[in-house]
Amino acid sequence: MEMFNIVDTKTSNSFWNNQKISFNLKFNVIQYHTNTLGCQQIAFRNGKASSPSCPLCRGCDNPIHVLSGCQRETMRKMVIERQNIAARHIVKAITGGDYEENGN
Ligand SMILES: [Zn+2]
Repeated sequence: MEMFNIVDTKTSNSFWNNQKISFNLKFNVIQYHTNTLGCQQIAFRNGKASSPSCPLCRGCDNPIHVLSGCQRETMRKMVIERQNIAARHIVKAITGGDYEENGN
């Protein structure tokens, strides 16, 4: 498979091996990928909530809503800040990290 030849395995696995990323954050990622991230929709499905709607904006509360879909102003600001932090990490990695132009 040609695609496997272009995947940087160090970068690809760095999230899971990074000691700066907490266990809880890694666990949240696993929960998102397995569609078990805590939200009203799952709580409602399991009889633990009276409504599947987001308590903040009344939208359909599912894992993607929790991570970036909530339209409540506070949540939108948190999502934008998270994206800004990620962008700063990317810029830092490109300009001073392993992928800095080295003339090769
Ligand atoms: Zn919401």
